[in-house]
Amino acid sequence: MPKASASVRGDPGSAVGDEGSQDRPDASGRVLVIEDEPGIVDFVRRGLEAAGFDVAVAVDGIEGERLALRDGFDAIVLDLMLPGRDGLDILASLHRERPSMPVIVLTARGEIEDRVVGLDAGAVDYLVKPFSVAELVARVRAQLRVVVQASTSVLRAEDIEVDLLTRKVRRGGRAVVLSTTEFELLVHLLRHHGQVLSREEILNSVWGYEHDPETNVVDVYIGYLRRKLGGPGDPAPIFSIRAVGYRLGSVS
Ligand code: CA
Repeated sequence: MPKASASVRGDPGSAVGDEGSQDRPDASGRVLVIEDEPGIVDFVRRGLEAAGFDVAVAVDGIEGERLALRDGFDAIVLDLMLPGRDGLDILASLHRERPSMPVIVLTARGEIEDRVVGLDAGAVDYLVKPFSVAELVARVRAQLRVVVQASTSVLRAEDIEVDLLTRKVRRGGRAVVLSTTEFELLVHLLRHHGQVLSREEILNSVWGYEHDPETNVVDVYIGYLRRKLGGPGDPAPIFSIRAVGYRLGSVS
């Protein structure tokens, strides 16, 4: 995987196969499909898109995990046997870092009993191959309903409000328009409201891939966020912590 250079790269969110999201007004969510068999990828993608979902695909476990741990997806369809990184390892990472993320695991018959026992399933559902696309769509819809009902979709801290479903951002009632990466950075800060986060932690959580340790991408994007959230005489409540990183809001 190429390392990021020491300057700001293109918005990584725009590279994630989200073609068609603009002309699909009835889209009902973004689904990440992690699967290496081209035939299954094709059939799953067509089925989910026909049902109104935006679909992104990763064909190996490493890329799949990287994308899965970022914000921006409403559900993940995960094959277990993957090149690069095993599906169960990805499931374990998700369970740690995105415990409410709905996951539909695709397995061969007999794979589940031995390997998944002991994993606290959380929002995980299983689909045994071969499966019908109608069944997959039904499972994804069911999982999304559970999540929407189970948790509020709005994060709030200070006078900042982010709706994770509509991706709308407001500060003190004023609408703020953010890029994908700015949005993900703000969500990360809000989730750790009152905590000091190091640049490295922010980099790993929001950008999620190997970086040149000298990169200034975090500082650059913090600058973008401050400009968009702040107003005259009313700076954004994102504080620089000398030699460490940043904190949103007052100390918790
Ligand atoms: Ca496979």
